[in-house]
Amino acid sequence: MSNKLLLEVVTPDRLVVSTEADVVVCPGVEGQFGVLFGHVPFLSALEIGEMYYRDAGKTEYLAVSGGFAEVTGSKITVVAEAAEFGREIDVERAKRARERAEKRLAMARTEAIDWARAEAALRRAMVRLKVASR
Ligand code: ATP
Repeated sequence: MSNKLLLEVVTPDRLVVSTEADVVVCPGVEGQFGVLFGHVPFLSALEIGEMYYRDAGKTEYLAVSGGFAEVTGSKITVVAEAAEFGREIDVERAKRARERAEKRLAMARTEAIDWARAEAALRRAMVRLKVASR
């Protein structure tokens, strides 16, 4: 019998990946957590961050933008607002997004801005740049 996890990452637009994995590590709102086969069932909200999984000795990284992870003994389902593998990330686009967010946050000295929204956009861009550089 296989003792691998089944990992599925889905977003509103697509099934990003459906694969077996030996371990999956996710950016939970209460900190990063790792899941192995047979983990007790649980549900966690996710932060904007990096997730990764290892399968047959190879580690794959994804940028995820919030959502949640549901774990049963043999399966982990990540439902995210957006998720991309490093190879799918448009680095120039992420740099532009980072620059826009930084400018907006700098405007906060003189204007009322939606701080949380600009800060989340900045974090998405930073995580994408990190994952793209792996
Ligand atoms: P932007 O301002 O560049 O649109 P964003 O952070 O607002 O960035 P999201 O709302 O998180 O973008 O994502 C919208 C869609 O675009 C999602 O499907 C996401 O996977 C994709 N996406 C966003 N940024 C990138 C990127 N740099 N490279 C590839 N896909 C991206």
